[in-house]
Amino acid sequence: YFSTPALAVDAEEAVATDRLGHIRVAVRVRPLPSGEDGIIEVAGSNAIAVKKEAATGGNEHLRSQQGRVEERSFDRVFGPLATQAEVYDWTCAPLVEEAVSGGKNATVFVYGATGAGKTYTMFGDAPRAQQGVIFRGVRDVFQRLEGAADDGGNFQVKVSFLELYNESVNDLLQEHGGGGLCKVLEDERRGIVKVQHLREVEAKNADEALQHLEAGMLARTVEATAANFQSSRAHAAFTLTVERVARVQPEPNRMSFGRGAGQEARQLHSRICFIDLAGSERAKATLNHGASLKDGARINQSLLALANCIDALTARGREKVPTLRKKAPYRDSKLTLMLKSSLTGDGLVAMIANVHPGRTHFEDSNNTLEYAKRASSVRQPARRNSWALLPSPTGACSTPHGRSGPSLGT
Ligand code: ADP
Ligand code: MG
Repeated sequence: YFSTPALAVDAEEAVATDRLGHIRVAVRVRPLPSGEDGIIEVAGSNAIAVKKEAATGGNEHLRSQQGRVEERSFDRVFGPLATQAEVYDWTCAPLVEEAVSGGKNATVFVYGATGAGKTYTMFGDAPRAQQGVIFRGVRDVFQRLEGAADDGGNFQVKVSFLELYNESVNDLLQEHGGGGLCKVLEDERRGIVKVQHLREVEAKNADEALQHLEAGMLARTVEATAANFQSSRAHAAFTLTVERVARVQPEPNRMSFGRGAGQEARQLHSRICFIDLAGSERAKATLNHGASLKDGARINQSLLALANCIDALTARGREKVPTLRKKAPYRDSKLTLMLKSSLTGDGLVAMIANVHPGRTHFEDSNNTLEYAKRASSVRQPARRNSWALLPSPTGACSTPHGRSGPSLGT
């Protein structure tokens, strides 16, 4: 029969939840381009050393600090030689496992200034000999699902791929090119956020899912060129929606009147989302005039809202009296609205903070590290989506056999 650790509520799970029940933060330092002066060095798997620099036009305090080396610790630090596989294994694999086997929603995002290595981390390098974490995630998801299916499970995967630019959502998987603008709608009563008209395409296996990913990446490049904007100013999100039916042994501590000792068919829903965020550099450094300033302001609005949500969650973790909890401002941007379910404790979140070790990138790197530090202090109760019992006409429980079992989804 199909058994899953999702039903085992024991000490082991408590430990796992504690381990995963906060934003999992890793810092990744990209290689220093030749000829550049480095100010950030990796000091082991948990620390980096930052040589203090005077900020441009920096204040006296910063000037007095110049030249000092400060060590900062993080949950995990990846240096310039870290492989994509190592980064995936620590930052993403545990979330993917929990999402697939435990029915949680998972979000992985890369944060950092333009040039810090976000897109390299997410997508990898052309022709992608060093495939990024999305490719690895897609393969991992299907490998786990196919393994479970061999044991009598049943699954359906859909993928979607969108870009958020200037606070508008563009569907990268629209069939006829040209994209499609989608509205982000919140159903407050049911507590869900939906991106209206966003194409969700079924993928039977990893290769199919990756074909859609590639097509979306191509659309992204073409549209960026046509619209004359840089993709560094847009957020891109690739999402896998997984529905599973599995035969499970009833929970030992649950009353099962009239159900006999047989197995139960359960349905489980989870979402895994990978986000390549827009560059986090300050508007003043890169954008000076007209339309681009407006774009910059809007992109900052999304990133600012994300920072504010993370701040609110941090405050929540420190708060002793629950009623005093600060409300996270999810509605301030489309990005945070779409991430709501992941940031409210329903989901698992991993953040990879990308930094450039060069001297000229000091301010950006410093900001990213501070942000990463704040994010890593967020603690939230991670909750599993419950396995819903499938209704069956006979009153007994239906038991799907293999992949041709009962249809999935609604
Ligand atoms: P971002 O998306 O943050 O603007 P990119 O991912 O485009 O930055 O990285 C900028 C450049 O640095 C690219 O040419 C990329 O290939 C290179 N790069 C970034 N990170 C790494 C890495 N870990 N190893 C090798 N090259 C990297
Ligand atoms: Mg990029």
